[in-house]
Amino acid sequence: DSLALEVEDLVMHFGPVRAVDGVTLRIRQGSVVALVGESGSGKSTVGRCIVRLLEPTGGTVRLAGADITHLNRRRLRPHRRDVSIVFQDPAGSLDPRLSVGDIVGEPLRLMRRKDISAKVSESLRRVGLRPEVAQRAPHELSGGQRQRVSIARALISEPRLLVADEPTSALDVSVQAAVLNLLADLQRDLGFACLFITHDLSAVEYLADEVAVMYLGQLVEQGPRARIFGSPAHPYTQALLSAAPVPDPAEQRARRPVLLGDDLPSAIDPPPGCRFHTRCPVAVDTCRTVVPERRTIGEGGHQVACHLVNDDGTGPDVRPVASQ
Ligand code: SF4
Ligand code: MG
Repeated sequence: DSLALEVEDLVMHFGPVRAVDGVTLRIRQGSVVALVGESGSGKSTVGRCIVRLLEPTGGTVRLAGADITHLNRRRLRPHRRDVSIVFQDPAGSLDPRLSVGDIVGEPLRLMRRKDISAKVSESLRRVGLRPEVAQRAPHELSGGQRQRVSIARALISEPRLLVADEPTSALDVSVQAAVLNLLADLQRDLGFACLFITHDLSAVEYLADEVAVMYLGQLVEQGPRARIFGSPAHPYTQALLSAAPVPDPAEQRARRPVLLGDDLPSAIDPPPGCRFHTRCPVAVDTCRTVVPERRTIGEGGHQVACHLVNDDGTGPDVRPVASQ
């Protein structure tokens, strides 16, 4: 399998803030990996390092085999077409002085490509907008339409990898599903790989092939979607999933969320040992001093970092048993 993305031991510190602290992640060509975790866990920072809006403090980022970790602007240019990003807030990410057509065509203009206006029309049509929208200004469009414009711009260069950072969470609930469906259709039709950053777990279940769970700058569990949803091994993953809405109301009533009590600790001085120990309902003494190694616990590269999980994936379950 060829890899669209390889992130090895990625570190991003902002002064004393250890936003990302050793993340290793691979995305196969054409597959979707969801990156989940609370606000402040470092998910967006990982995304920004991958598209090189940030230069990582340490580790490596390889796009389709090419190490782009420390390339300068000029040397980064040939790799620009391989990766795009869609941000949470389309209003903030679209230049209000440009027409929609200029915005969507900009990546191709930077690559000095020809026939840009035909490509712009095609890209707009692909995201469900009429080509005439190219003459309009972003502020004349609705939030959902603006996010479609960002997606059109991100995909016009036919990237191998799309980073989608909470692409629907700033939109009206009424248009979220449509934008999500659009992304799913485009991914299937165009076959790009995707790092889907979100805290919408129902979207993850719908879109992702694999799930990576981030806690305070590190990955605590990752693996195939069915394994993560069916038998989450890490207490934090179990807590996160226990709070997710499910379609069946009876199951929703039976499920009770695991309450983590304290807020996410500061990334300036993260807890020693397992970073989750200050909130983990089953922490033991070892957890306070010894950093748990990441281990493979099953099929399809299911990995977890927790002292109490056994090699066969059995171990603690912090979810309350549903009362019948
Ligand atoms: Fe909880 Fe310890 Fe496992 Fe960390 S290593 S998740 S504190 S049991
Ligand atoms: Mg974020």
